[in-house]
Amino acid sequence: MRFAIFPANDPARTSRLKRQLMALGSYLMYLLPLTYAVHYGWVRFGYPGLALFVATSIAINLVFFIAIRTGFSLRYKDPSLLLPQIAVSIALALLIIHNANEVRSILLLPFYTGFFFGIFGLSTRQYLGLTIAASIGYAGMMVLEFVGRSLDTDQFHLELLRFLTLVMILLWLSFLGGYVAWLRSSLARRKNALATALNKLEQLASRDELTGVFNRRHLIELMEHEKERAERFGDTFSVCLLDIDHFKRFNDTHGHQVGDEVLQGFSQRMRAQARGIDWLGRQEADNTFGRYGGEEFLLVQPRTPIAGALHCVERIRRAVNAAPFETRVGPLQVTFSAGIAEYQRDESVVATLNRADAALYKAKNGGRNRSELAP
Ligand code: GH3
Ligand code: MG
Ligand code: MG
Repeated sequence: MRFAIFPANDPARTSRLKRQLMALGSYLMYLLPLTYAVHYGWVRFGYPGLALFVATSIAINLVFFIAIRTGFSLRYKDPSLLLPQIAVSIALALLIIHNANEVRSILLLPFYTGFFFGIFGLSTRQYLGLTIAASIGYAGMMVLEFVGRSLDTDQFHLELLRFLTLVMILLWLSFLGGYVAWLRSSLARRKNALATALNKLEQLASRDELTGVFNRRHLIELMEHEKERAERFGDTFSVCLLDIDHFKRFNDTHGHQVGDEVLQGFSQRMRAQARGIDWLGRQEADNTFGRYGGEEFLLVQPRTPIAGALHCVERIRRAVNAAPFETRVGPLQVTFSAGIAEYQRDESVVATLNRADAALYKAKNGGRNRSELAP
């Protein structure tokens, strides 16, 4: 099995992992000022300490990377593990600052970079929690140093100024970062709601109101799609126009509503038949039909030559003829005529449809309840 750094088909996890690499970048970015400080002896540890810092940075990010990559982190509410990540970076920063002499203010930077990552999902409350933890950590370090006499009173006052500035900026970042994270998540929520609404609209726009099957607009789109596919792969497809025989009589004799019931019953029976097994024994999952208009229905059969299309239409005919349709005025026997045409290279779908329509006309003239093939 090939090992992939990013999982296939999992954009959310991939973006978490990319963020982890960004985090590693932030750690290593810190290497520059740190090396400078080591070089001039401004920190208490030398190059071995620097090497340890690099190793620790890589180890920390590797652990988080693996936790995310393996899916282990999915068991937590925040699979990016932002809170522990930032907490660890702050602890490391405190350790470095504790060992720094003159350059403490500059080495405070990682506090801020760590906090910035929180905009990927920390709430203001979580931010404030981190601020409190960082402040306690920093204050604890100060007290320890003062008691241990490594700070004199002047240095302590200077340290206090640093501390207060740090707390102030972390508080500011907490509110700003929490706000940005909230904006991000509410945008994502709105995007989801919009996508759902769009999906619903698309459904509505492609359906016929009375029968619930596809409408003319969608059928034409579908034929254009089939035409493209047929051209590209040297494939074919067939279209079948099905027109109910003497439909006007149902309306005239029993009223418009009974006519509507016949249309609904016809759609249902077609729906049951259009699925199933086709002439080659294939599962006809992608056979599509809809109401082309009035009492005319259209069946589009991908990758099907005219003989196969006829086979399917005759199966529908058997199903329609097999039993009358139940309506409010009792059972009504329904028949239909069909015109079938196979797509011919380079013709427009309108031309294919016109040929099917001409065949349908022939079927009507030939006595109805029959199918005709377009030449
Ligand atoms: P033929 O066998 O030649 O197809 O005869 P026909 O009566 O089926 O064909 P014609 O085109 O003369 O009549 C179709 C009728 O379908 C006319 C129209 O009023 C009716 N119709 C169209 N849409 C609807 C509908 O949504 N509901 C109902 N109840 N009737 C409709
Ligand atoms: Mg008609
Ligand atoms: Mg008709």
